Amino acid sequence: MRYLVLSDIHANLAAFQAVLEDAPPFDKIWCIGDLVGYGPDPSECVALLREYDHDCVAGNHDWATLGRIDTDDFNPDARRALEWTREHLDAAGRAYLEQLPSALHFNDFTIVHGSPRQPIWEYILYAGVAANNFAHLQTPYCLVGHTHTPVIFQEVTHNNGTASVATLSPEYDEPLPLPAVRLIINPGSVGQPRNHDPRASYVIFDADERTILYRRVEYPVEITQQRMYQLGLPMRLAARLSNGW
Ligand code: ZN
Repeated sequence: MRYLVLSDIHANLAAFQAVLEDAPPFDKIWCIGDLVGYGPDPSECVALLREYDHDCVAGNHDWATLGRIDTDDFNPDARRALEWTREHLDAAGRAYLEQLPSALHFNDFTIVHGSPRQPIWEYILYAGVAANNFAHLQTPYCLVGHTHTPVIFQEVTHNNGTASVATLSPEYDEPLPLPAVRLIINPGSVGQPRNHDPRASYVIFDADERTILYRRVEYPVEITQQRMYQLGLPMRLAARLSNGW
């Protein structure tokens, strides 16, 4: 069984379609939240995900679209995009977001948008934050999104019984065998990458081979940007897609 692991699609249909075309054959999608917000095609992205066998958790932008989080907690551009999304997401998309859980557990994996400790809001940007979160993790592996940065945090247990966390930058196109130590895995973002690489980022988890594979794929950024300009979404949010930031 192969899983296509996606996070932070952010209503970027062109990026989502490019990932689906680029991915090797897969059986199921695991989606780590923030389907909407920032981008121009929220209803279309929800509908496209629903064409596939999948599981999905909610992200902070999904909850903000539903009014479960105050948009004052977001920066001005994100807030404007969220207000636009609230107006334009269709009823089917909204109903879909309403029923998303904040965490899922499958055998070896926990899936949360932010962190095991705070599934919707906490950013795991650094090893120290990851270290605190391993204490809240009940499974060997955890899939997170939210930071839009592809990274793996690996728990390292020392001979004296203490533990620390190593931060690993993913190798692309090179299957990584899952080790017998705990990992927090971030596949990066499909629709708004932030590690200075504009290509959409995703992961394939092969449950039979016990490997994860990081991939990047180019997509027509200008299509998403033109849609954003036409729809009156913030210019800065469109411009940043060119730089992967
Ligand atoms: Zn996000």
